[in-house]
Amino acid sequence: MFMLNIRHILERARLYFGRKEIVSRTDEGYVRYTYRDMFDRVCRLINALEGLGIGYGDRVASMAWNTHRHLELHFAVPVMGAVLHTVNLRYSPEEMIYTINKAGDRILFVDPDMIPTVRKILEKLETVESVVIMSSKGHEDLGFNKPVYIYEELLEKSSSECRLRDIDENSPAAMCFTSGTTGFPKGVTYTHRGIFLRSLATCLADTYALSERDVILHIVPMFHISSWFMPYAATLVGAKQVLPGPRPKPEIIYDLIKKEGVTVSDGAPTVWIDFLNYLRTRGEKNIEPLRRLIIGGSAPPKALIKSYWELGVEVYHAWGMTETYDSAAAFTRPKSYLEDLSEEARLGLVAKQGLPFPGIEVMVVDESGKPLPWDGRSIGELLIRGAWVVEEYYGDPEATKKSFLNGWLRTGDLVTIDGEGYIEIVDRVKDVIKSGGEWISSVRVENEAMAHPAVLEAVAIAVPHPRWIERPLLIVKLREGYAGKVSKEDILGFLRERLPKWWVPDDVVFVDEIPKTGTGKFDKKVLRERFKDYYRGSGL
Ligand code: AMP
Repeated sequence: MFMLNIRHILERARLYFGRKEIVSRTDEGYVRYTYRDMFDRVCRLINALEGLGIGYGDRVASMAWNTHRHLELHFAVPVMGAVLHTVNLRYSPEEMIYTINKAGDRILFVDPDMIPTVRKILEKLETVESVVIMSSKGHEDLGFNKPVYIYEELLEKSSSECRLRDIDENSPAAMCFTSGTTGFPKGVTYTHRGIFLRSLATCLADTYALSERDVILHIVPMFHISSWFMPYAATLVGAKQVLPGPRPKPEIIYDLIKKEGVTVSDGAPTVWIDFLNYLRTRGEKNIEPLRRLIIGGSAPPKALIKSYWELGVEVYHAWGMTETYDSAAAFTRPKSYLEDLSEEARLGLVAKQGLPFPGIEVMVVDESGKPLPWDGRSIGELLIRGAWVVEEYYGDPEATKKSFLNGWLRTGDLVTIDGEGYIEIVDRVKDVIKSGGEWISSVRVENEAMAHPAVLEAVAIAVPHPRWIERPLLIVKLREGYAGKVSKEDILGFLRERLPKWWVPDDVVFVDEIPKTGTGKFDKKVLRERFKDYYRGSGL
């Protein structure tokens, strides 16, 4: 049987797209090379890893940004039959220690700017035998209690001749941990087959249409579900790839788009909100040659989608979870016969979470697990299964039992599905606000608040209330230059025109920063705890 594995993706790129470019921003400057060069270095890395005793099924961890070296690890490790565990750099040191020990990682690859963090956690890592610094030069005494290697030295000493193994498609290739908003993060394993099929699906003309002609800028961090696995799809079709390196700020993104000819990019709404602000401060009216943005991870506000349309950029809204190989579970693009809708209606459609990808199946169920109709009104939990949806949590039968129902993953998202099959998230099961026994969609409240020109980010949370049990409170981060110029009443008045009366939050709190989870989502758990007494004594 022909195996759907990462070896095929890599070899195809060498055979057919050997001259195409990969551009990488590192802390040592820009690196520009071809797929052929990458192939050569991946072979060297495989030999180096074998020299360090890594074999089939072993786990290799990375703590790194989006660079060519991290890309090489994404191929070398799974192609030799080992498993790449990308450690989330936004985790707390405790979460890093927990996830590395749980995965049983044997080698830790780290970017130079992560050295101070590694110094803090290394002693507590039970299975890590050695550390590789992803750099070309030695570093002063690191004070590590394990052998330390330098990436480029390892590659230089290794042969570029290697025999690629044809790994069984159901073997694990990568692993990641969930964002851990409740308790410790849960581990998820991704197979060669799942990554292959997911990559193929994102290249379909009716999904993200990734093609050889594209220049793809990977903004989603590789430490977060391997940049949504987009580097594999890009390699599969031989597209030029641009890796923006450590902490890419809007000015870096702008330069890369212009200089490298980027046509498509991806990321969470916050990144693209910041970028839009940057464009506004520069007075830019277009961002050519950028044509498509795949935005997901949380709901992009309608105002954001519209602003990009005005810049000539199409927005593909993506929905997914760590458990569904991230943002290729559902997507929105209006069907051909829906394209004539008014702008407002089209905006409403694109703001929905959309249709499942081919290879993915969904249903919406009530609390007893009974399927609900697709009428755009009946609200229930979304269940999902498919060719790249995991079926268990790594080494955690308890969590597996809780989250799976007859082979379907319980997403924890409350949704409606309309007659055309478009999914719309109303809320997370645990984030929904229940006021006087009625549901208020925090997602909808946030979306409307973020349409206010002064609002950069808004979060609606449920706060205990003596009369209504819970009432919404809106936490707002204003755009630069608006502090002191916009009142709470301005924002509440704006919402009164757009929301049912009782959905309008009772109050607004302005903050300098909104706390985020390891995967960059608003951390409502922290906010709920901080404001739990806010309405104490009100309303009676
Ligand atoms: P994570 O596993 O950390 O990526 O979180 C997955 C959850 O993020 C989903 O179950 C949704 O609640 C939320 N999410 C992801 N994409 C979107 C989206 N496009 N719109 C709204 N919520 C989203």
